Amino acid sequence: TAKRAGRNTHFFFNEGMREEAEQHLQLHNDILRGLNADEFELHYQPILNIKTNQIEKCEALIRWMHPEKGRVMPDAFIPVAERSGAIVNIGNWVLQQACKDMRVLLDADIDVKISVNRSVSEFHSENAYETWENIFKENGVDSHRFVFEITESLFMDQNSARVNVISSLRDIGVQFAIDDFGTGYSAINYLRTYPVDYLKIDKSFIQDLLIDEQDKTLVEVIIKMGRALGILVIAEGVEEPGQLEVLQQFECDYIQGYWLSKPQPLSQTVSICHEHMSKQNTL
Ligand code: C2E
Ligand code: MG
Ligand code: MG
Ligand code: MG
Repeated sequence: TAKRAGRNTHFFFNEGMREEAEQHLQLHNDILRGLNADEFELHYQPILNIKTNQIEKCEALIRWMHPEKGRVMPDAFIPVAERSGAIVNIGNWVLQQACKDMRVLLDADIDVKISVNRSVSEFHSENAYETWENIFKENGVDSHRFVFEITESLFMDQNSARVNVISSLRDIGVQFAIDDFGTGYSAINYLRTYPVDYLKIDKSFIQDLLIDEQDKTLVEVIIKMGRALGILVIAEGVEEPGQLEVLQQFECDYIQGYWLSKPQPLSQTVSICHEHMSKQNTL
């Protein structure tokens, strides 16, 4: 019967699926190889508090400096890593690197939090909390200095292991931001159960802010909702001064986007932050 079952499974695979599975396995192995070979890098994009005009946070965004493919952007490997399980290795590397980079920023007198992206599947592992807490400890970095960016889907089912990981992290001062807010399930009742610190309005809403009345209304409503619930709001993908003006008018808390800076390697981020600080001092 084993033979029969084996033969039967062939019904479920066509050539295209087999090829895709093979490609995913190759990419999975290549990611693990690349992590070992130190091919990944974190770039940082500043997040500006537009009420105080201070750069308060920097978002860490991963890049893969591949020996053959050149620079590979996260959208080309994160989704596969999420399915293959390599995301756990990536996520641990990211936190480790972000801790090292945090020390560099603090040594340069830059007082910011680092915001790191976390995939839902990273919360499935039972010992996620212990692993991350250990990374903070080993690097001697204060966990209060970190924000975890997650998506709404993390809250979509009541998984107790996941809830425990989140509340343990909150207990040691890690803050949480809902990334790509507005593009997910829009079942916002999770906001009543799970305290989050920030909502990041997805850049697709900001893109047409000046030309689409509906998007403008939605942005205004999200900002008002955040204020009513005591959740700070970050607008992603701000590229033009006109967008900033509207967001200021709506009393949004933070902006992030090419208008202020593209994501840059750590050394450039240090310069950008210093420049911003010196401009403020002369005001
Ligand atoms: P995200 O977390 O929503 O990050 C914002 C994305 O928007 C980044 O793309 C950033 O470069 C881009 N962006 C920033 N400002 C602007 C702007 O003004 N205009 C436009 N058009 N785009 C802007 P990136 O770096 O390619 O990252 C894509 C996604 O990959 C991220 O979306 C995040 O979901 C994921 N990602 C990145 N790094 C990591 C990581 O370390 N771990 C995990 N799990 N996911 C990551
Ligand atoms: Mg993000
Ligand atoms: Mg986003
Ligand atoms: Mg995202």
